[in-house]
Amino acid sequence: MRVHIIGGGIIGLSSAWYLRKEGFEVTVIDAQDLKEGTSHGNAGMIVPSHFIPLAAPGVIAKGIKWMFSRKSPFYIKPRLSLELVEWLWTFYRSCSHAHVERAMPVLRDYNLWSRQLYSELASHPDFRFCFEQKGILMLFKEAKTEAEEFELADQAAELGLEAQKLSAAATQALEPGLRLDVRGSVYFPGDAHLYPNLLIRQLTTALKSQGVEFLTGAAVTDFDTVNGKISRLQLSTGQVVPVEKVVLAAGSWSAGLMKKLGLKLLLQDGKGYSVTLSSPEKRPGIPALLSEAKVAVTPMGDDLRIGGTLEISNFSPQVDRLRFQGIMESLPRYYPELNSGWQDLSKVWHGYRPCSPDGLPYMGFSKKHDNLLVATGHAMMGLSLGPATGRMVADLMIGKQPEVKLDLFDPARF
Ligand SMILES: Cc1cc2nc3c(=O)[nH]c(=O)nc-3n(C[C@H](O)[C@H](O)[C@H](O)COP(=O)(O)OP(=O)(O)OC[C@H]3O[C@@H](n4cnc5c(N)ncnc54)[C@H](O)[C@@H]3O)c2cc1C
Repeated sequence: MRVHIIGGGIIGLSSAWYLRKEGFEVTVIDAQDLKEGTSHGNAGMIVPSHFIPLAAPGVIAKGIKWMFSRKSPFYIKPRLSLELVEWLWTFYRSCSHAHVERAMPVLRDYNLWSRQLYSELASHPDFRFCFEQKGILMLFKEAKTEAEEFELADQAAELGLEAQKLSAAATQALEPGLRLDVRGSVYFPGDAHLYPNLLIRQLTTALKSQGVEFLTGAAVTDFDTVNGKISRLQLSTGQVVPVEKVVLAAGSWSAGLMKKLGLKLLLQDGKGYSVTLSSPEKRPGIPALLSEAKVAVTPMGDDLRIGGTLEISNFSPQVDRLRFQGIMESLPRYYPELNSGWQDLSKVWHGYRPCSPDGLPYMGFSKKHDNLLVATGHAMMGLSLGPATGRMVADLMIGKQPEVKLDLFDPARF
């Protein structure tokens, strides 16, 4: 049987990998050329430490404050859109303790499973994508953030995840080669990182050598349906492709495609930026999140990537100069020896995180079209959750119960 996957980001490619392992014929269809999308320029962090969903108590108050600062890490571009209003309302309603309590153990298991699958992939002879498990430091400068991060560390410990509360001196001891200016940190030794551009390139090559077919530069523009099934995909190239099973893994664009099928999927694009410094003279050895600035700093191979901001932008391709400056200016506040003088906006990468309003992915078969499997909405954790999602897609296709419970991920839950 052949499965057609719409979208060749980390979710689509991981699905292709595990579907192929189960003996399916696979075609990946992508509107772009698989060279620079959201799954390429992200911060490369594999994060069991991220067990709190984006929708959580306290987030709205922070978000409102950030909306009024031109250099803050969060912004919603105002626009008249019923979908945006419904998304915001659902986000508001999801920011509850009950929601967080339900989501935490599931996100923990999903991320740990995915990290395990990454370490298996990394030992495969086809792959050298700089996977390293050195942990992640949550660096902070302020007492208020310290209290928040230490509370998170306690919650992590309750969930059985290792989290070390470190003083400034203990943090510096982990980064002996680079001066830090922080109040302290929480160290999550179980987190990992990799070089996403290498991963995506190598995964694509490996899949091609295993006979996976790629149709690139071909956007799915519409669907033909017969008796509750998708029968054909219409492509921007004019091709009409008969299908048996379809996986929708088109990231932030998935909502538009679902709409064509008469299905609602609340999803907004969370635009973010990154720059990659090639072999800088100085760089940290351990990836870090700069807690107040919400900036990710990741050593990748010999390079250093700095990324941040979440702008709900309606797919605006523009780089917001001030917001990007906000990212770069935060860097020397935590690492005084690192330069923030990056000016060349043409080298700034941007990508769109597929954000659901409760901060949880959409995973599962459609009830309306039973040959359609939805796999998207992974927001800030799509890279991290890629392999486990791909494995889940394959499990669902062969009728096996996946290792992680899917109850919270129903694509029709809103
Ligand atoms: C600045 C930044 C930093 C990040 N850091 C991290 C991190 O450290 N760790 C982490 O886990 N996650 C991180 N993320 C999030 C992560 O990058 C995303 O969650 C993930 O890449 C989403 O993957 P995807 O496959 O769902 O979507 P995408 O990578 O967006 O892939 C979707 C694909 O679908 C294709 N497509 C769209 N429409 C159509 C159509 N009509 N027909 C055919 N194809 C179509 C697109 O061309 C695209 O290639 C970060 C994101 C950003 C922006």
